[in-house]
Amino acid sequence: TMRFDQYLADEQATVAFGAQLAPLIADGAVIYMYGDLGAGKTTLTRGIVQGLGHKGKVKSPTYTLVEPYELAQVKVYHFDLYRLADPEELEFMGIRDYFDNRAVCILEWPSKGEGVIPRADLEITLEYTGEAREISIDAKSERGADVVTKLKG
Ligand code: ADP
Ligand code: MG
Repeated sequence: TMRFDQYLADEQATVAFGAQLAPLIADGAVIYMYGDLGAGKTTLTRGIVQGLGHKGKVKSPTYTLVEPYELAQVKVYHFDLYRLADPEELEFMGIRDYFDNRAVCILEWPSKGEGVIPRADLEITLEYTGEAREISIDAKSERGADVVTKLKG
């Protein structure tokens, strides 16, 4: 599989990396984000969402499950499925409406939505390395491979 890794020294580096990733996924993507609590999944999402043109805050949708951003260029749906008890709840929410292939769908804790959420184009893992973080991005589709190729270039 195609993979890209990078060291992220601090929160600001993670936000900047998200902003760098943003234009590469602006045509739409499904992104799974893995990593322990506090690893930086929401921080990275903030960089992506702001990089796609959002001016305001990006808050964790832990209690609401999803935070939509209808931007001029693209729709972004940021999911945090940590508190999801049953993937069927997502069906009741009308989750399929969110998975337009031109939208950017970012999912924290995707394993909680297994069977209901679409396949990933990219799987991103954030890991602690001391006070800093290490990011790994795996391509899971042709669309994802294009993104990783551009990151490597
Ligand atoms: P998650 O969504 O994975 O639970 P958050 O993004 O909400 O994590 O929180 C990450 C926390 O770690 C923040 O408090 C942030 O300031 C801190 N942090 C320290 N170093 C980094 C880094 N390199 N990248 C992202 N966050 C970092
Ligand atoms: Mg989070």
